[in-house]
Amino acid sequence: MTTPPLAPPDDDWRECPHCGLFSRLPHIQPGMVAECPRCDQTLWRMRRATLNFPLACSLAAGLFYLFALIAPMLEVDAYGRFSLARIETGPLRLVEAGWGLVGALVFAVTLVLPGLKLAITLTTLLGLKFHLPKRWLRGIFRYYAPITPWAMIDVYLLGFLVAYTRLAGMFSVRLDTALYALIGLMLAMAAADAGLDQEIVWRALDQPDKTAPSAQAGGLISCDACGQVSNGETGDLCRRCDAPLFTRKPASISRAWAYTIAAACLYIPANLYPFMDLTSLAHTQSYTIMGGIVELADVGLWPLAALVLFASIAIPLLKLLGMGYMLLATQFCSGHMLQGRTKAYRIIDFIGRWSMIDVFMVSILIALVHFGQFANVRANVGAICFAAVVVLTMFAVNAFDPRLMWDNDQEPEA
Ligand SMILES: [Zn+2]
Ligand SMILES: [Zn+2]
Repeated sequence: MTTPPLAPPDDDWRECPHCGLFSRLPHIQPGMVAECPRCDQTLWRMRRATLNFPLACSLAAGLFYLFALIAPMLEVDAYGRFSLARIETGPLRLVEAGWGLVGALVFAVTLVLPGLKLAITLTTLLGLKFHLPKRWLRGIFRYYAPITPWAMIDVYLLGFLVAYTRLAGMFSVRLDTALYALIGLMLAMAAADAGLDQEIVWRALDQPDKTAPSAQAGGLISCDACGQVSNGETGDLCRRCDAPLFTRKPASISRAWAYTIAAACLYIPANLYPFMDLTSLAHTQSYTIMGGIVELADVGLWPLAALVLFASIAIPLLKLLGMGYMLLATQFCSGHMLQGRTKAYRIIDFIGRWSMIDVFMVSILIALVHFGQFANVRANVGAICFAAVVVLTMFAVNAFDPRLMWDNDQEPEA
């Protein structure tokens, strides 16, 4: 275990979210990175830009978002028939066809959550500029980090690329305004993310009159939402942002197991059952995930086939095996390869969302290809199982607390 500070923790104390080591942030300059001394996790990357840069990027992203909402995205011309899709057409068709959960999921991660993330960023940054009550802003900005992985415009655009390549082989396809707006939105949001220094925002939102750090009984505890370290115990409220405090994520192991096992069970039907049915000139063919990949490779689209193979087969499998291994090793109190396991956790956490490519592809094909007996695409049971696998594995990674791996480590601190 780590040595607690002698004095009550001041605002520079941080707990590493991945190994649980308490350390003092070093004095760093803009452009520099403070890393955890034990597991190398980035604790603070101090940005060079002021908060005006992410604010400008977010305002631009807001404009792109509006265009993406109101303009058409794609047009398809097939056998003299015409079809037009907006960004919400795919989810709506999924709901109409009885796949309401997948439709709701696609709608949430492509429209609702990116919009919410933008609204949080804009409200916080504009609120700081115009001196809105910081208590409100803290309550809002708390949700910025948890929402971020679920705003999937970037993944959606890759799914679009796969769908477009398939469509362009069959029909004449025309890209429309909303698609360019989505690309602009993705770039503007990425720039805003890269320029937004959450530590600086939290320091700007800090209340000068907050409860002073005390030397009371109770160990050190850090806030998952804002990083503030205090003396206290599970169940107390953060003295900066009022979020409830936990020494470790509650019921981490059992929740992570439940999600992992559920996802592993669904991974089998997700691969065995057809993902989508494609009717072309009164002839219907069903595709499994693997069948779709083989077809992409058959027509010579090797890079896309490799991309889908990686995103749809390899990533979910890696996540399931990785989570199983980490959970077992943690439960059996293994202090083996802690550095490696922490790195593996980071990778699994980072790549998980990219598995949604195939789900987005189906939602785009469904939106456009509905020409009755001439050409029609329908989702099938494999798609709903697969979407569930992606979401459940993301929940599993989120529920798992990597600090538990290090808690088992009995070796004295180096
Ligand atoms: Zn660490
Ligand atoms: Zn907090």
